[in-house]
Amino acid sequence: MHLPAFTAEDLTSFLQKYGITKTENSEAMYVNVNLLQVKCSSVQDGVFLRAKCNSQTKDDVIYGIDMYISNCLQIIYTHCECANGRGPYAHCKHIVTLLLAILQHTYGKEILTKESRIRTLYSRRSSLKTKKKGSESAVIFDPRPKDLRNRSWYRGYFRNLVINYQSTNKKMPISELYGPANPHGINCDHDYMEVTPADYVLERLKLTKLSPGDISMIEMETRGRHRNPKWFAEQRLRIPTSEFGKICKTTDKNELVVLANKLVHPRKKTSKSILHERANDTEWLDLYENAMQVKVESCGIILNSAFPYLCSSPGGLVGEHKLVEVKSPYSSRKCKITSVTVPYLQQDGGSGLTLSEKHDFYYGVQGALLVTEREQCDFVVNTEMETVIIEVERKEEFIAQMLKNLILFFEMYMKPAILQKHFYKEFDNYSFQ
Ligand SMILES: [Zn+2]
Repeated sequence: MHLPAFTAEDLTSFLQKYGITKTENSEAMYVNVNLLQVKCSSVQDGVFLRAKCNSQTKDDVIYGIDMYISNCLQIIYTHCECANGRGPYAHCKHIVTLLLAILQHTYGKEILTKESRIRTLYSRRSSLKTKKKGSESAVIFDPRPKDLRNRSWYRGYFRNLVINYQSTNKKMPISELYGPANPHGINCDHDYMEVTPADYVLERLKLTKLSPGDISMIEMETRGRHRNPKWFAEQRLRIPTSEFGKICKTTDKNELVVLANKLVHPRKKTSKSILHERANDTEWLDLYENAMQVKVESCGIILNSAFPYLCSSPGGLVGEHKLVEVKSPYSSRKCKITSVTVPYLQQDGGSGLTLSEKHDFYYGVQGALLVTEREQCDFVVNTEMETVIIEVERKEEFIAQMLKNLILFFEMYMKPAILQKHFYKEFDNYSFQ
């Protein structure tokens, strides 16, 4: 603002000219910020001023003030819109208020108006805001041109670059800053491929396709049953024959979900009967070999290319059409074998014993015959008192019904549980914010 260097003497001479002795009202109006705005315009000989001033008593009444001061500080023209302010020589309190304001400017102070006060507040707030922003991104040196800095899309762009780089290259330390890509999104995004990423994972785990080479390799690698860690690893991916009974008998959906999760995340079985069975299984197979005068071939996990998600781990193989399962009931280990001491056996009308068709062991035996494509199973029950061998024939109708349930269970419960573990990796259970 180029205001004239108006002095206290100039003001006094103005007041004396019009016989004004008291300026308290005008001083109060200036301090109370009754002036709304002051504008000035320089011309060759002086300065034109235009101001707006609130009435001292009525807030909603505003008076316009016009003033012309020559370069030699002569007040040539004054006019105010109030009742006492008619020009060209107006000298009302509003005019005096404006003169007081100009005097403040001469002293090097900013003229106090409502407009300047609001502007000051606004500039203070915005300076606070910019300070906060600055402290958030305290970049010491940014080599980019100014117009390329702080672009809204840049963070997303950079994140994508880092994540995509990782898919084919080594891990960069900066990748630790980002959460993993959403596997559900990946699966939906890549639906144009021959197999979806989820299907690809199932294929890689050999749960959808099995070659004869895969079958013999897995069988060899898993020999030794519970003594071989690989045996446990392969069983965790598939439905073992020992669970066929439970799956076929369970109708409650929630229980089936729990069952699938237990198969995928199994706990180590350490019950006394299982430990007892595991400790003596080879010894009992030797007894069987001697009694039957046959050679038992031990084996690992056997798979079937028609149902790659089922697996069987029989006690042993005999010839081309038979297999052996050995059981030793721990609670009846010192008893004679009857349908009472061994609950899964039943009297077959004559003097012989048969395996109850309702028991999980029967489902297990039929399941093993299905997977190994064999015709008969010698079900050996052992106690310290005696050994009983029960012949179980393959029963096609039973197998067909069981297979229906198993396929349904795999598609609806087991497959989602496997994908959750090996592909989605329980992504939904974590927050990466
Ligand atoms: Zn006035």
